Amino acid sequence: MLTLTPAVRDAIYEQGAASYPDECCGLLIGCFVDTVSDGRRVAVEAVPVLNEWTAEVQLTDDETAHSLRDRFYISPEAYLKAQRAALRRDLDIVGCYHSHPDDRAWPSERDRVGAAGVGGGPYFSFVVLSVLVGKPAEIGSALLSQDGRQWLLEELTIEEIS
Ligand SMILES: [Zn+2]
Repeated sequence: MLTLTPAVRDAIYEQGAASYPDECCGLLIGCFVDTVSDGRRVAVEAVPVLNEWTAEVQLTDDETAHSLRDRFYISPEAYLKAQRAALRRDLDIVGCYHSHPDDRAWPSERDRVGAAGVGGGPYFSFVVLSVLVGKPAEIGSALLSQDGRQWLLEELTIEEIS
């Protein structure tokens, strides 16, 4: 279960609307509240990351011509930089987010293939924001199954954390 503070949700909404019709992406900084029971985590900050997808970034062998409209890529350098900043505040990266311009709030098959590269796994939230005709529409979260073969729905709540 993932909780976003209202400020984090608003930041993702704003970024998703601003980058439309391209995808935006970023990392979620936060902490694990109770890893023993249900792995609940809270994201307290959204760190925008430049979408560095280019034709040179090949996630699968059959990549052909695609654009920033249906691709996102977070470089290992950007990931490490955000993680170092988070660790200095006793926080960690709990997931990532990206937008789906004119598509649904659910990660794609292509996202699944790319997920391993940014630390996919059952404790790494994949938040997807659906942006329809430039307006944020719906936000959802998914977790990669243990074997990495499928997306699992993760409960997402918006709550102020005191
Ligand atoms: Zn996607």
